[in-house]
Amino acid sequence: MVRERRGPFTLEEVHLGALRPDEVLVRIEATGLCHTDIAVRDGEMPSPLPAVLGHEGAGYVAAIGDSVTGLAVGDPVVLTYLSCGECRECRTGVPSACVQLGGLCFGGARPDGSHALHGSCGDVLHDRFFGQSSFATYAIANQRNIVKVRPDAPIRSLGPLGCGIMTGAGTVWNALKAGPGSSLAVYGAGAVGLSAVMAARVAGASSIIAIDVVASRLSLARELGATHTVNGGEGDVVSAVRRIVPDGTDFAVDTTGREAVVQNALLALRQCGALALVAAAQPELSLDMFNLLAGCKTICGVIEGGGAAHLLIPRILDLHMSGRFPFDRMLRFYTPEQINDAVRDSVNGNTIKPVICFGQNAA
Ligand SMILES: [Zn+2]
Ligand SMILES: [Zn+2]
Repeated sequence: MVRERRGPFTLEEVHLGALRPDEVLVRIEATGLCHTDIAVRDGEMPSPLPAVLGHEGAGYVAAIGDSVTGLAVGDPVVLTYLSCGECRECRTGVPSACVQLGGLCFGGARPDGSHALHGSCGDVLHDRFFGQSSFATYAIANQRNIVKVRPDAPIRSLGPLGCGIMTGAGTVWNALKAGPGSSLAVYGAGAVGLSAVMAARVAGASSIIAIDVVASRLSLARELGATHTVNGGEGDVVSAVRRIVPDGTDFAVDTTGREAVVQNALLALRQCGALALVAAAQPELSLDMFNLLAGCKTICGVIEGGGAAHLLIPRILDLHMSGRFPFDRMLRFYTPEQINDAVRDSVNGNTIKPVICFGQNAA
């Protein structure tokens, strides 16, 4: 629970209401901590407080609403973002671009204004964060944002598939469509960036350049598939990238949302190159329009990796289980009591992807 802007996460007992027909009760085993949780806590994204946050939950189905199909009690599941299922984007297989996504994931309530949980004194709490609010022992999700996963996978590691890992991988595969022999630069070697690195390796990219200012992240990036690394704190990044790929990179992914980094990413692209933006740390951006135009370059925004979570998550998990997408190398586990330590470790860069364990085999 986060009660106030920039306040700590607190452990509190709250009550879940009855399931709606299209809802599912999930016993949470573990939930990843994403920068979006911290941004909402800090008031940098418009979502009401007090609220139960958490949007990378994984666990087991505990109960299902009357109209839910394809799920049964006991199924292992990963929770992801909620989409409406009715807009053009949802109906054409791109729920990540759902026009209702903002309200459904950040509105703090169901679309009709009701809540799935309330405080022990009956006080109103905001919930339905990404249709889950999964920093909790139990969460109510919707049939649409639940992905059933193979039963032999380690459930407590799987939550980050529902946001951060999927964002990095899907951006490379769905949005940029990086293929064999291509070159790709990844700006920011956090969980999203390292997932982009692993996805580029799977896609057969020949040059995969990770850029960060933290040396330990760069060494992990090399272990996960980066062919080159650039320390952004040591000299001009554009020159460093062009020393590796003289014509510039075919593709780039910016995970930092910082203007100066995005500007570098654009300048280090080759002719007709494409840059995907997956984060926004600043509200506005100024760009070298001449470079963009004369270079015939593309810049696109990508939410949750583009495409559909129901396709992406099983695909990444199958690669993981065959040893080709070792995302577990990024994870560090914490107990619920340690959640504020997890936030601190994430902010200062000591932990790439914290995971809060709520289940039996907690950290
Ligand atoms: Zn997230
Ligand atoms: Zn929609």
